[in-house]
Amino acid sequence: MNNNGYRVVVDAGHGGADPGAVSGNLKEKDLTLKAANYMYNRFKELGIPVAITRDTDKTLTRSERLNTMRNTFGNDSKVLVLSNHINAGGGEGAEVVYPLRSNGTLANNILNEIGAKGQIKRKTYQRVLPENPSKDYYYIMRETPNTESLLIEYGFIDNPRDQQKLVNNIENYAEAVVKAVSEYIGVPYMLPGSDEVGDTYTVQRGDTLYSIARKYNTTVRELQELNNLSSNNLSIGQIIKIPQREIIDDVNTYTIKEGDSLYSIANRYNVNVQDLIDYNNLPSISVPVGTVIKIPGIGDTNNDLIYTVKPNDTLYRIANTYNVSVNDLINANNLTSNILTIGQQLIIPKVPVNETDYVVYEVQRGDTLYSIARKYNTKVDAIKSYNNLMSDILSIGQIIQIPLNPVNEVYDEYLIQKGDTLYSIARRFNTTVNDILAINNDLSSILSIGKTIKIPR
Ligand SMILES: [Zn+2]
Repeated sequence: MNNNGYRVVVDAGHGGADPGAVSGNLKEKDLTLKAANYMYNRFKELGIPVAITRDTDKTLTRSERLNTMRNTFGNDSKVLVLSNHINAGGGEGAEVVYPLRSNGTLANNILNEIGAKGQIKRKTYQRVLPENPSKDYYYIMRETPNTESLLIEYGFIDNPRDQQKLVNNIENYAEAVVKAVSEYIGVPYMLPGSDEVGDTYTVQRGDTLYSIARKYNTTVRELQELNNLSSNNLSIGQIIKIPQREIIDDVNTYTIKEGDSLYSIANRYNVNVQDLIDYNNLPSISVPVGTVIKIPGIGDTNNDLIYTVKPNDTLYRIANTYNVSVNDLINANNLTSNILTIGQQLIIPKVPVNETDYVVYEVQRGDTLYSIARKYNTKVDAIKSYNNLMSDILSIGQIIQIPLNPVNEVYDEYLIQKGDTLYSIARRFNTTVNDILAINNDLSSILSIGKTIKIPR
């Protein structure tokens, strides 16, 4: 077995008569069981030797739990004990506790992977017994002398946002642990149910399909096909399959259509006519309709077109020419403004024709930028900049474009209510007044009701 000597003990915290943390109908023991069972099956699937402390809702004594942890695989640093828990007590996000004997690498990797699934990363840390600081606080660490015993707290059961995440994503977070562990022990990570070595990528904040395609030398279309994506929308934590690159046959081709000339094609792809002739061994400059020609200089290393900005070009005009959106251009080139300089080289991303990353919306009575942004899971700021709106005022019947790009946002928005203070808002979102002020340039200490402000995440 290719496990490099590592073995895993999965622990479902609490159970039976001990519910652990509780909030309404939600019980820690149920969430930890779900995470543990999921993980147990996944480790099996990956060929990693694994045991579990309980796979049903039953009460375990401390010694029963320890027995599985210490005696299934022995007691050395290649035994990983993963104890699953849910926090309580008024925080938000995930934590991983690691023993005094550990350097914390696995704990950090796990927290990072859980973070990549969209959960807030609080911290990894060690905790000592108050009466004896040379000993671990938690018995699962204290009583397992050599193993890498970790306590994973996925979120806070008494925090409404975490509650929702835990209910919806606990298995996703368990998958994050599986990924971190397989990377830590050097076992190829494969997606659930897959028998192929997973070239996969977990969507991070700020990613677009385009940026991922660039990173892996593939195209947006290929990613969409492989992952059955019907739009460009991604969510943080989503796992994307990455196509295996084929070394050959990765050249852009074009089929000659009625009315085409080598000149028009050369112009379109920003290459010269002689290059087209040479590259395709063409006998003459007149090429029959239906001939498939290869476009030099593109597709060999990546599939992008490079366009050189000409006088009077605008992003809008270039986008139209290449049947992409202005946003695609902005994303592909990491542009921070609409201003182009002559001679500037722009990457023209390959996006599926007709694929839009915005929707057209007609403003209805009662709409505000805020309500529209909410509806489409985007931000007031994003709509304003997409439409070059100078104010928040909309008129009924006004046509605006709503960009569909939720992953790019690194802040939440909040509509100021009567009675709010910066301090009360900061407390509510678990941030500070200074942090709020730092990302809201135009904010004064007197809040105006109905104004939208950014809340740092
Ligand atoms: Zn617990």
